[in-house]
Amino acid sequence: MKALVVDGPGRAAVREVDYPVPGPDEVTVAVKRCGICGTDAHIFQGDFISPYPLVPGHEFAGLVHAVGANVRGFAPGDRVAVDPSLFCGECEFCLSGRGNHCVRWGALGNTVDGAMAEYVRTPVRTVFHLPDAMTFAQGAFIEPVACVVHGMNRLNVRAGQSVLMFGAGSMGQLLTQALAHVGAGELAIVDLSPAKLALARESGATVGYLPHDLDATLGHRKGSSGFDVVIDVTGIPAIIQSEYSYLAPRGTHMQFGVAPTGATVPICPFDIYRMDWRLIGSMAVNHTYRAALQWMEAGRFRVDPLISRVISLAEAPAFFANARNPDIMKVQIAF
Ligand SMILES: [Zn+2]
Ligand SMILES: [Zn+2]
Repeated sequence: MKALVVDGPGRAAVREVDYPVPGPDEVTVAVKRCGICGTDAHIFQGDFISPYPLVPGHEFAGLVHAVGANVRGFAPGDRVAVDPSLFCGECEFCLSGRGNHCVRWGALGNTVDGAMAEYVRTPVRTVFHLPDAMTFAQGAFIEPVACVVHGMNRLNVRAGQSVLMFGAGSMGQLLTQALAHVGAGELAIVDLSPAKLALARESGATVGYLPHDLDATLGHRKGSSGFDVVIDVTGIPAIIQSEYSYLAPRGTHMQFGVAPTGATVPICPFDIYRMDWRLIGSMAVNHTYRAALQWMEAGRFRVDPLISRVISLAEAPAFFANARNPDIMKVQIAF
């Protein structure tokens, strides 16, 4: 079968690899759609925690192709989507609802081969039936929405709170939709793409700002007139550093975007003390895949407008190697 293999930083190719035969408690899925995520770009660039060689891909849906001897409830041909999380289920963190900190943490496409391949093998406990009304393209969004569910659980936004978010890519757009549903008051978004800002406005953002004139447009919102919640969805250290100044007293900053491993930003501990700030993170999916599926099945998210391009597996290496167009949101690989 064909797979996109990342051999090392900056090196990826589509190659013939062995078909992943399912073990007794595993399912092999024929991938129909796989989303490309910022984390995949980090894996390609070599600034994530992944081993090489690796087949990336953790946002996907497809058809059951083969099942192991112990598998019940799934049969070849079933439409499915997969939680890429590989938690051990036995450690202190798994047993206390913090599987995303599992001491043996793994994820398809992150620590073991993922779904940028014709077939991918996964434990049956990670497999979910895809509702009939949901397309494979939509099914490939359940994982990013599961990240949003975890972020929303971490944030615990209260009705009427003011929110400032940096980054209006597909994750920023999904967070915008979620925040609009749970009762954010003012919901301001910063991005350098006017097209992304316009879409965020359609999804519930109250105002969009371009970064180059931020001092002029938002400079008065620093310090005591700042925002209750500031969210980073860029992962870019220079931007992250600028975000703290917009936090109100008692404000919460959430680091949602994935910064390069080892990158640092200076922050003034006196400000954290003086302003009663809360600085939190939100790491991937944490037992939130089923909630994401249900949230999407209920029609709460509009994901189709977030798909900027659909490419073939053969086109994927060139996509990773080339600089991003800032107007592009989600790109999916179709099989
Ligand atoms: Zn992702
Ligand atoms: Zn564990």
